[in-house]
Amino acid sequence: MDKVTDFLVNLLNTKSPSGHADRAINFVKDAFEKLNVNCEITNKGALLCVLEGKNKSIKRTVSAHVDTLAAMVKEINSDGSMKLSRIGGYTMNSVEGEYCSVETFNGKFYSGTILYNETSVHVYEKVGTTERTDKNMIVRLDEVVKNDKDVKNLGISVGNYVHFDPRAKVTNSGFVKSRHLDDKAGVAVLYSALLKLRENGTVPAYDTYYFISNNEEVGHGARAGYPEDTAEFLAVDMGAVGKGQASREDNVAICIKDSSGPYNYDLTMRLKDIAVNNGINFAMDIFPHYGSDASAAISAGLNAKHALIGPGIDASHAMERTHIKGIEESAKLLYYYILSE
Ligand SMILES: [Zn+2]
Repeated sequence: MDKVTDFLVNLLNTKSPSGHADRAINFVKDAFEKLNVNCEITNKGALLCVLEGKNKSIKRTVSAHVDTLAAMVKEINSDGSMKLSRIGGYTMNSVEGEYCSVETFNGKFYSGTILYNETSVHVYEKVGTTERTDKNMIVRLDEVVKNDKDVKNLGISVGNYVHFDPRAKVTNSGFVKSRHLDDKAGVAVLYSALLKLRENGTVPAYDTYYFISNNEEVGHGARAGYPEDTAEFLAVDMGAVGKGQASREDNVAICIKDSSGPYNYDLTMRLKDIAVNNGINFAMDIFPHYGSDASAAISAGLNAKHALIGPGIDASHAMERTHIKGIEESAKLLYYYILSE
């Protein structure tokens, strides 16, 4: 595996739910520092790194988010199973059957499986027709527990994080399939562009900040924590693949509009021109149910041009998949943007 794929798989296997992304923040910090980048962790726990540019007259911020969907123990049922409270926007269908681990407040992990509470077809009648909701989905713990007291005696509590098994896998055909490619594939894009800068001995046109946010899935990731005089804010996040979408897993999407409205026209057109001029495989696209760290920054009051690019991710917020080519094309676009005057 090459450096970027290796980085991505290791990152996918590092637990980092929204609100508790510290492990992945530290993982990325180590990787960036090995490439001689100055990094600091912000008050909110995000990572801010500076790539010194030739010209100091403006600042650019490029973001990707390392936090992921997850859940918390909402309630311990009398039979020793547990109800979930969702972190981030996903359907309960998308986690049915998934292996998970419950992290106690003392840092101990217990494995389990997320299930509909009447799953066995040999016992129950309406397994195939019942809507999956927070009320009927549970964690089945891999411990001999008969009641809620047994579960509590293990040290498990309401409010414990429940991590989904990402099941990261790279296929011979170049696909990466895993949970949480949104937006760990985007973080890998930032890493890849940084590697290119170091390998080619090139310097950003302007001071460029890498902002790795840790609360995007719950909406307030990039509302603060990067230079306030940022003139251009570029979010690298997933391209939305699906019926009617132009984004593909093997290209880079340039999003011109999402649920938050249009992205900055001037910056978006410059990104398109950079893609055209460098032979990058891209698609202009509109994301119908989507907001990004760039739109979060703007809604928080940032006075900057904002844009959004990223590799196409299929089946987002479920069993996601992208292609190494999508990450490469995104990294090329980011690299040439960082060098552009
Ligand atoms: Zn995302």
